[in-house]
Amino acid sequence: MREKKSIMDRKVYIPQMSYISARCMAAAFQSVGIDAQPSPTGDAETYELARKYLSGDECLPESITLGNFLKITEQADYDPDNVAFMMPTSNGPCRFGHYRPLIENIFKERKEPVLFVSPSSSDGYGDLGKNANRLFRTAWCSIVVADILRKLLLKTRPYELEKGKTDRVYKRSLDRLCDILAQQDVSHKRRVGNLVEELENTLKRFQCIPVNNKVYKPLIGIVGEIFCRLNDFSNSYLIRQIEDHGGEVWLSDITEWVWYTCNEEKYHLRRLGKQVSLKMFGATIRHAVMHRDEQKLLKPFRQEFRGYEEPDDIAELLDNSYPYLPREGSHGEMVVNVGRAVWYYKKGAAGVIDISPFTCMNGIVCESVYPRLSHDLNGFPIRIFYFDGLQTDWGSDVEIFLELAKQYMEQKKSPATRVTEH
Ligand code: SF4
Repeated sequence: MREKKSIMDRKVYIPQMSYISARCMAAAFQSVGIDAQPSPTGDAETYELARKYLSGDECLPESITLGNFLKITEQADYDPDNVAFMMPTSNGPCRFGHYRPLIENIFKERKEPVLFVSPSSSDGYGDLGKNANRLFRTAWCSIVVADILRKLLLKTRPYELEKGKTDRVYKRSLDRLCDILAQQDVSHKRRVGNLVEELENTLKRFQCIPVNNKVYKPLIGIVGEIFCRLNDFSNSYLIRQIEDHGGEVWLSDITEWVWYTCNEEKYHLRRLGKQVSLKMFGATIRHAVMHRDEQKLLKPFRQEFRGYEEPDDIAELLDNSYPYLPREGSHGEMVVNVGRAVWYYKKGAAGVIDISPFTCMNGIVCESVYPRLSHDLNGFPIRIFYFDGLQTDWGSDVEIFLELAKQYMEQKKSPATRVTEH
């Protein structure tokens, strides 16, 4: 049997959950000599291509991920021998664990020897050797950097005086940050130093964008299923629709999910009686290193992100969620989402929108909790939007929600006063 080419000799496609994050992650892979790039952006063709293989049981992110990989097969220079798909996986009850077997089987049926690699498994990573650890650290920086850039974009764009200016600044900044993430043969310390420097330049660029800081815009916290809330095509560009109707968005980011999985790792070790164990020691060191890198990258933004702070510890979100969805009985995004909705309330947001794929259990469970949560939070507006892959104009729904959020702010009983800087 012919041996498959290694990951080092293939073009590796990173699934595009958020464009910014996929670009930064691809750059991190480039730093260890892998020819990586984001999978194509979703559009109507994505869904049409995927539909040929779907039974109807798949969730929306699964269909979009498949469709975007199939789009690659339509490219003139596509050669399955030279392509690899990065496909993270998990063991939980959620359909995320099905993505890889489903997509891999489809490519087997098509008799295309594409290589699939998962960050959690050893397949394909043996070739990385000592670079695997370096890649892990750069990949973590890429996640943090992408989250920072997205936050700057969303915080600035609604107030810009020249339409399109913020997007242009963001694109330029993204290119420069990716160049640094992709640098080969630099020490981790040097790379982090270079990133901090470029992030300071990025901040200056954003601060030079002329804005109208006199206008009031209700700040809407976004929670929900991670792929759907971050992927513009999946959520029918809802963030843009909110901005177009006069709102500002604060979007729950990817680092939040990473910290939740870290917290879960330790929680399960404790439950297994491994409080004192090599595994616990390893996890503690790893998390401390991640935390240190994150703090270094965030340092230039202390002032800029006043009023938009993330929790110091993800446990704060789990505590917020406890009366509604205790982590002992519920699991995953639903716990984080409910805790995060309370966080937005405490930070003085005007309301929360939950973005969920149609039929996803996370959204269904959260939806059953939100009325009580809203009641307990003095009528804080919370609404779920479901998405099924059809591009929908949510304009009137968004308008009604923003009106509700404004009314809530007028009669505000929320404990926090927002401090924002533009
Ligand atoms: S959380 Fe829901 S939408 Fe997301 S992968 Fe799991 S089942 Fe699919």
